[in-house]
Parts: sequence; C-alpha cells; structure tokens
Amino acid sequence: MEQVQQMKKSVQSCIDAHKDELHSLSQDIWAHPELAGKEKYAMERFLRFFHLDPAWRVQSPYKMPTAFRASWGPVGGNEGDPVLNVAFLCEYDALPDIGHACGHNLIAEVGAAAGWGLKAALEGQPELPLRVKVTILGTPSEEEFGGKIELLNAGAFEDIDLVFMAHPGAEDGVSMRGRARTYMLVKYHGKASHAAALPWMGVSALDAAVQAYSNLTMLRNQLKPGCNFEGIIKHGGVKSNITPSYSELQYCLRAPMMKEVAELKAKVEACFKAAAIATGCQVEITYPEHTYLNIVPNATLEKLYEVNAQVLGIEFPENIADYAVATDFGNVSYVIPGIHPIFSILTTAYNHTEAFAKAAGSEEAQMYTLRVAKALAMTAVDVLCSPHLLRQVKDDFAQAKVKQEN
Ligand SMILES: [Zn+2]
Ligand SMILES: [Zn+2]
Repeated sequence: MEQVQQMKKSVQSCIDAHKDELHSLSQDIWAHPELAGKEKYAMERFLRFFHLDPAWRVQSPYKMPTAFRASWGPVGGNEGDPVLNVAFLCEYDALPDIGHACGHNLIAEVGAAAGWGLKAALEGQPELPLRVKVTILGTPSEEEFGGKIELLNAGAFEDIDLVFMAHPGAEDGVSMRGRARTYMLVKYHGKASHAAALPWMGVSALDAAVQAYSNLTMLRNQLKPGCNFEGIIKHGGVKSNITPSYSELQYCLRAPMMKEVAELKAKVEACFKAAAIATGCQVEITYPEHTYLNIVPNATLEKLYEVNAQVLGIEFPENIADYAVATDFGNVSYVIPGIHPIFSILTTAYNHTEAFAKAAGSEEAQMYTLRVAKALAMTAVDVLCSPHLLRQVKDDFAQAKVKQEN
C-alpha cells in the first residue's frame, strides 16, 4: 500500500517539476496547427521534448509518416517475465480554419506528462510484482481518416497491453461515450439535357439527391435512441439550364454500437436506392473512410480513474451529457483494454468552435490538463502494483467486448 502511495506521489512531483516543458510542448503545437496527416511540426517538437531525457528510446516516424513511439523499460518483476507495456496515446492534429478547436494539443500534453510521470514512479522499483514498460505513442490524423486504425493495421499496438488517453471537452467524465461512426459517399449519375427545350431527354441527378434527402429526413423519425445521421448535398449540378447529370451527397451515420450502424446502413442505403429508381439515375454508394468503432468501456479502469481523479480535486457531474461524438480510440478499445476520460478546461464552449480553440491555448487550461495526466498515470500505478486488479481489467475487457458483439 505504501509503495502505491509513494509511486503516486512520484507521478505528481515529476509532472509538477516538468510543468513548464509540458506547457511549452502543447503551446507550440497549438501555435502551429497542422491538419490530419501533415503533423510535421508536432513530430519535430516531440523529438525536441524527448531529447530532454535520453532514457526514452524514440522511433520517429513510426509506422506512419507522422506517428512516433517513445519507450522506456522494462523494469520490475523478474528477468524473463512477460512484459506489461502501458501506453499513453497522444493526438496533435488540428481542424481547418479554426486550428486546435478540438484541443488535441492538450491530448499531446496529457500523453507526454502521464508517460513521464509513470516512468518517474517506476524508476527504482525493483520490488514491483510485474515487469513493466512505458510507451508514449503519437497517433496522428484523428480528425480525418483515423490514424489509430492505420496504426492498428500496421501492428503498432501488437505489444501494448493497456492504453490510456484523455480528451478535453466541456465537462469531466470518466469515459467518453464514443459512438460508432461511418461516412458514406453517394453519387448519382443521370443524363444532361437542355433543361428548357428538351427536359424529357434528361435524367436529373439533382432530383435523385433531393429525393434521397427527403427519404432520409422521414427515416430520421424512426431511429433508435442514440442513432443518428447527418448529411449534405456536395454537388447538385453546374448550371440551371442544364439538367444535372451528376450529384453527390456525403452522409455520416452514428450509433451506440457497431452492430446498430450495420442496421442503420441497410435502411439508409434503401433510401438512396429508392431515389435512384424513382428518378431513373444510377447510384454508387461507397464508404471511403475507416469506420470508427464505439468505445468499449472498462469498469475497473474507470472506477480506479474516478478515485484518483477525485483525490486530485476533479468533480464529476451526476449526469454527463451524451454527445454523439466518435473517436478512433474506439477501434483501439476493441483490441486492448483502456480508458478515454474527458476533462473540462473551464470553458462553456464545446469542441470544434473558435472559443474552444482559444481555451485550449490558454494558460488556465494547464492545471486541468496536468491534473488529468496525473490521474491517468496514478490509475496505471494501481494496476501495475496489483496482479489482481490487472486480471480484473482483463476480465472486464473480455466481458464488455462480448456485450458489444452480441
Ligand atoms: Zn474533434
Ligand atoms: Zn478531438
């Protein structure tokens, strides 16, 4: 017990001791917003950060042009024991025009801080029951095509046993309730004609798009709780006196669980196909991006995080708002046990707004960011010091996964 408390103290004092370097890391990333897949500056900035402590073995790039991995250890247990690799995930991509409006610069800081804090706690702990390694993994492109999914496919998570990350938001919660999400791209092909002189010779792809839009608006009345979709007409013709021969729509479908996305897909596709039949157009339906899965919860990790966070003064509201957001962490959570808490940075603004971007770059966000990093690393300490808790985390993971799939 004393060992756990001592290690948690080390987490806190290490993070406090490095608060200026950590702030400067997130501040620099905030001041140089880069879109998904183009996070060159952030990569270079992380490299400089890891140069502060040569004990980290850094691979940059790692499996993707703008991903990196920093590892330390193993320590504890006995030589030859299986190694438990604990990873903290960083994100650092920004949004077009409004910069770090999702606060990924702070996710970068949380990951770096928690990893450093846990390393400090593990240093000089030969009595630890388990053999442990710490990894800080830089995962790019969350806002666009799902960097974590690419990294999963590339084997970047193969030797990782537990994952932790946290996302800034409008309030504090032990876990983001990420939805499963998929993007659809729908193209209608019709036939151009002189819209005034020979309208009967044309086949309007815009009519198909409008018909589909209205079919879907009616379908919206019959959705299960937690399921939704939103869509736009991206292309609807080129000139009013030409029958539009081509139209294009983008839709995004979301549901609490992946199996419900599959049900929703079938209904939505029927709406698009019906519009094609009604108008005489050809329809092409594709899913151009990776599907983000919902987050598989882990009750044990959530409970441990809650206690550690409360010790540090984080208060959780009774009922947390159920925002229909999605993250590529969901895909990771289907493969490895982990948690993805959200944390308030003292703004009433919600993510993806200019006001939130401002808050994510403010001095005031620092205390909240470092506090959540401490709580994550302290949660890792609890698990690493107790083979019993580790078993419980793994059992929760197995049970929660079965629930998602059935
Ligand atoms: Zn976002
Ligand atoms: Zn985000």
